[in-house]
Amino acid sequence: MMAQYLALKAEAGDCLLFYRMGDFFELFFEDARIAAADLDIALTARGTHEGQPIPMCGVPVHAAESYLARLIRAGRRVAIAEQVESPAEAKKRGSKAVVARAIVRVVTAGTLTEEALLDSRAANWLAVVAKAGDRYGIAAADISTGRFELSSVPAGALDAELARLGAAEILSNDAIPGARQWSSGFDSLAAERKLKDRFGVATLDGFGSFDRAALCAAGGLLAYLDEVARESLTFLRPPVMIAAGDHMMIDAATRESLELTRSAAGGRAGSLLAAVDRTVTGAGARLLAADLGAPLLDRARIEARLDLVDALERDGGTRDWLRRQLRTLPDIGRALGRIVAGRGSPRDLGQLRDGLGEARRMHDHLAHAAEPTALLNELLPALTGHGALVDLLTRALVPAPPIDAAQGGYIAEGYDAALDALRATGGDGRRAIAALEARYRAETGIASLKIRHNNVLGYHIEVPAKAADRLMAADSGFTHRQTLAGVVRFNAPDLHEQAMKVGQAGAHALAAEAAHLEELTEAALRRAEPIAATADALARLDVAAALAERAIEGGWCRPHLEEQPCFDVEGGRHPVVEEALKASGARFVANDCRLDEAERLWLVTGPNMGGKSTFLRQNALIAILAQAGSFVPAARARLGLVDRLFSRVGASDNLARGRSTFMVEMVETAAILAQATPSSFVILDEVGRGTSTYDGLAIAWAVVEAIHDIARCRCLFATHYHELTRLAERLDALSLHHVRAREWRGDLVLLHELAEGPADRSYGIAVAKLAGLPPAVLARAASVLAKLEQGRAATGGIAAGLDDLPLFAALAEEPAAVDPLRAALDEIEPDSLSPREALEIVYRLKSLS
Ligand code: ADP
Repeated sequence: MMAQYLALKAEAGDCLLFYRMGDFFELFFEDARIAAADLDIALTARGTHEGQPIPMCGVPVHAAESYLARLIRAGRRVAIAEQVESPAEAKKRGSKAVVARAIVRVVTAGTLTEEALLDSRAANWLAVVAKAGDRYGIAAADISTGRFELSSVPAGALDAELARLGAAEILSNDAIPGARQWSSGFDSLAAERKLKDRFGVATLDGFGSFDRAALCAAGGLLAYLDEVARESLTFLRPPVMIAAGDHMMIDAATRESLELTRSAAGGRAGSLLAAVDRTVTGAGARLLAADLGAPLLDRARIEARLDLVDALERDGGTRDWLRRQLRTLPDIGRALGRIVAGRGSPRDLGQLRDGLGEARRMHDHLAHAAEPTALLNELLPALTGHGALVDLLTRALVPAPPIDAAQGGYIAEGYDAALDALRATGGDGRRAIAALEARYRAETGIASLKIRHNNVLGYHIEVPAKAADRLMAADSGFTHRQTLAGVVRFNAPDLHEQAMKVGQAGAHALAAEAAHLEELTEAALRRAEPIAATADALARLDVAAALAERAIEGGWCRPHLEEQPCFDVEGGRHPVVEEALKASGARFVANDCRLDEAERLWLVTGPNMGGKSTFLRQNALIAILAQAGSFVPAARARLGLVDRLFSRVGASDNLARGRSTFMVEMVETAAILAQATPSSFVILDEVGRGTSTYDGLAIAWAVVEAIHDIARCRCLFATHYHELTRLAERLDALSLHHVRAREWRGDLVLLHELAEGPADRSYGIAVAKLAGLPPAVLARAASVLAKLEQGRAATGGIAAGLDDLPLFAALAEEPAAVDPLRAALDEIEPDSLSPREALEIVYRLKSLS
């Protein structure tokens, strides 16, 4: 056995090995130490290996899922080695033969399908990244629902794309932070062949146009799924190509700082998603998260979503009816995922029956009751077409089928006459056995005689030990089976005969049910793709109704989208801050934001705690909501589409990170300057604060100039560097704004209200007072400040002399003369060259010199 274990462990590599032994999965050696610590279970020892006791721990098979869940959450991967023959079969090979075992599956964070291991409201992506030439291909699959996306991005956009997916597991053939190394299957030609085979098509063109990088990644993904799923199939729907221009690019730092799907504290609570989400199904919640993570760029598609939200917002009757129906829906997408993976239960089939039947009723109601919109008309047909399958499942299954098929009892009466007959025989037998009990009592005169059943003896007669003597006699008609403390067990010919009948009928009935389960599963599998499409349509309806509900709850408005880069929001609010304030009884002050080509950049000053960050973020969130197809928290909004969104927060708000925070801030700011286009939207909050005053001011100054003159995008820039307001004189598309504050009887009142022009003063000492600094310290600070201000007046302040600088733009507009040799050198990518190409390049370089 040890030899078998070690061979399987070698195959499992760095996965923990769950080694099946009867009713337990056991772990040995280092695996046992790790699992015992992660799971907080007892570490024991069993036998010895090379003279040392072998550490061991185990988990019962029936409770394995919850232990698996904890190990996966702790970042482990687990290989499951099952017994693949029965002990009886092993015996046939020899009296000492070890039961054959094989790894049937590897459980990893990105390849889960079990309900218990998944968050019903979050997608579970596995992403495989392939480096191919100068591009990265990404293949992402959520095998719990079959979603399968391919994309291909330049190196600079990889981070944003991975951040959008938020994958539970990432693999790559390149060194990428957070990814595990995986090198099989990265072959675009073989991958294309495999995809065609898998989806039964002669060409992939019908799914989209996939480049080499995307296909490479798909190949890596398929190879990995084969590795983890072993013999069983994983659920993949045809791949969808995600083109770079499909959605707003939002990089990881921006997602984090805007707290789109998780708050700074790490949880869902406090995020934009939590503040917006009013969906009533898991699939709806997953789709909404995906929508907010990938706002659209195509105006027609956004308007189609908005039209449906709008119609449902106005029609409360339909909305309420729809939400009531949706609430009762099972998660058919995930039920289907389990069925395809070969782990479907009778209950999963019951869920398909109920969900698909309900979809049909929704179709009939919506088709006449709801205001038709283009999107609704597209969704409605997807809700129908399953009549035959629903009929079949309705006839075949009991109303509430069990999860565990092993005990049977899920096929309905009347579906199969032969099965009904077997059940009747079994029932007759059980009744006969019950009647035998009364007869044996009468015959023996033992009133406490009972007929019992267990897995070892089957049906047997049990009497108290003191009454047993009478039955022990050779001519009693009873055969002794077992003596325990207090009771003695017997068999008898009549009982044996009936028990055989019951047992045989039961086994045949179980087999008949299992055969039906297989047929029903087959019938569902034949319709996997249309069922998945129905699940998608239901999720879309849930999202639309939920957004309508949210709009009404918050008094949100429908945004008007435009092509030109304007950003005109009247009475905008921050959905998360507003909710938090409401909970404490405070009121949120709505603010306008008006950017257009003539006034692209707002410099927002004002005291700490005045509401600058909130204002910046609320506008970024409004852009995201609008392009995701939602109403927005504002009185009115006219928005030009945003292609890329950037948000950066000055370093000292970000102390949790490991790297030099100032360094991080500068690297991230550099990324904005490199990537922003005139259609982008940038919010910069106190950039430059992570260093000394002079450095910080200088950097903030240069960044504002660069955004204004080079990126030329819409931008909100919050700063406490009052000196920056001087830029307004030099940069014509920049305007000054401040958050208002007032001192009233010596106390600072923050109005959270935006006004034009620069702040008149910084109120730093008043904010310190608000924060509870002792009076003596405040007084001392006031006199130091007075001294400093005198000095500033005399020297022109820390920004003295900046007015004499040449404009940033002047530098940018005069590119250095291009050296052709250097340009040719810059283009070379040594890693992607064949030797022959390299030689050609050498000749070309020589000709340039
Ligand atoms: P700053 O960036 O200027 O330091 P914040 O935006 O962080 O200020 O806001 C500080 C606090 O003020 C927030 O946590 C919130 O409670 C409150 N606040 C901000 N904006 C508003 C608003 N528009 N209406 C009401 N309260 C607000």
